Amino acid sequence: MYIDTHVQLNFADYDSDRAMVIGNAKKAGVRQFVVPGVDHNSSRTAVLLARQHEGVVFAAVGFHPYEAPHNPDVSYIETLLKDEENKKYIVAVGECGLDYHEYKGEIAAGRKDVQQRLFEDQLTLARTYDKPVIIHCRDAFEDMFSVIARLPQPPRGVLHCFSGGLQDLRLAQELGLYMGVDGNVTYSKQLMTIVPHIPLSMLLLETDAPYLTPVPHRGDRNEPKYIPLIADHIAKLRNIPVADIMKATTENARALFSI
Ligand SMILES: [Zn+2]
Repeated sequence: MYIDTHVQLNFADYDSDRAMVIGNAKKAGVRQFVVPGVDHNSSRTAVLLARQHEGVVFAAVGFHPYEAPHNPDVSYIETLLKDEENKKYIVAVGECGLDYHEYKGEIAAGRKDVQQRLFEDQLTLARTYDKPVIIHCRDAFEDMFSVIARLPQPPRGVLHCFSGGLQDLRLAQELGLYMGVDGNVTYSKQLMTIVPHIPLSMLLLETDAPYLTPVPHRGDRNEPKYIPLIADHIAKLRNIPVADIMKATTENARALFSI
């Protein structure tokens, strides 16, 4: 079986057919799902979905860097984490991190210092509540590593949708972070060269659905049922049996998220 470790089943994209999307993924061998929050509402709905699909959907709660300019109330994440009733449904804090991607000459997620504070606050929460973190890092690896270096000890976690270079991979490995690989590995030349260097013991599979639909379905809404396409592609790149990818990534997901 496979686990999709990053899928936005909490987004409105699935409001009309969520149960069918989960059913079709299960038929494809994808049996468990980690659903991250990106803001107040999606964190809340991630927990609700985990309650509705106990043992199948697991929630993460957090604020994406895109929320940074809106001054989000991080104490809400703590409220969710604190609730004893939520304990078995919330497996991580996130997604959180840094996004310095520029749009029309400006960083879309706003001021770097504000993003860093929001990220750091959530790393602290993860530590307090002994949860791993799901880290979103885009065009910001240097500062991401600096924020982590300021912590008393590195977090347990995953660099979701890993987009770094070989040097970033080496640093992440030293910190013991996992690397999440998505459907863009089926069409990004850069990823095809990096992904074979990720040790199997640090590899996680994720779709980031509804985004990043893999070949040959590009242009359609992404779904967790496409995880096997990502696994197949990685197996071909590494020239190993796909069963090895399945076994390693499922074990890694279980170890990181305690599921
Ligand atoms: Zn992300």
